[in-house]
Amino acid sequence: MRLILLGPPGAGKGTQAKRLEERFGIAQISTGDMLRAEVKSGSEIGLQAKAIMERGELVSDGIITAMLARRVQQPDCTRGFILDGFPRTVPQAEALDTMLREQAMDLDHVIELAVDDAALVERIAGRFTCARCGEGYHDRFKPTAKAGTCDACGSTDFVRRADDKAETVAARLDAYHRQTAPLLPFYRAQGKLKQVDGMAEMNEVTRQIGDILGSGGTA
Ligand code: ADP
Ligand code: ADP
Ligand code: ZN
Repeated sequence: MRLILLGPPGAGKGTQAKRLEERFGIAQISTGDMLRAEVKSGSEIGLQAKAIMERGELVSDGIITAMLARRVQQPDCTRGFILDGFPRTVPQAEALDTMLREQAMDLDHVIELAVDDAALVERIAGRFTCARCGEGYHDRFKPTAKAGTCDACGSTDFVRRADDKAETVAARLDAYHRQTAPLLPFYRAQGKLKQVDGMAEMNEVTRQIGDILGSGGTA
């Protein structure tokens, strides 16, 4: 099964992609996570991407597409994958179509998580992640069960993203509306676009996605 989760920053793509990864045993591919790993390692790509990400702009299509092409060759992608944060521009979507066609693969669904801009600002401002295991949290919508301790691994170390501050969020939303939203008509024209109510609470969003994918637990 090959899916795209499409939606603005903070819509819940990462949250839902992790659940789908567990349920279907297919790889979550987050280009944002991959870029943050490149920045952390100080690689050539990381050096180029860092300032762009901090401004809330998009990294160039060439860099991203090359990175993704390598990623989908990995063995954990043979059963399928969930793209989280890619494609983000029409040229990226066209490159993906070409890549899949060359490998005789098809996309099953493109699922849009629709969320209002005002709600996104609150979601992004409250987001934090376990530094050890990567479990995602929210100050208000998904706090840890025990204050300051990760539910999943017991770590007491958490991180907040450098680009999750108020000044950058407006630029990221603007990039979404200008550069990524045109993917909605692009995939609607292909008959692949499905929409879920991303304003609903997390479990309800998971349920709506489950309805689209069918109840089977196999890929
Ligand atoms: P994205 O990957 O689309 O940027 P995330 O999955 O990281 O979004 O979610 C952004 C923040 O909002 C996180 O802190 C997450 O815990 C929280 N969140 C995710 N889905 C919901 C939801 N349906 N309702 C409320 N908060 C949510
Ligand atoms: P979110 O879904 O919360 O906006 P991501 O983790 O997906 O955040 O992306 C963080 C940043 O990484 C983006 O603001 C952008 O600078 C860069 N990025 C991630 N994916 C892409 C992509 N497909 N194309 C261009 N830039 C990207
Ligand atoms: Zn943890």
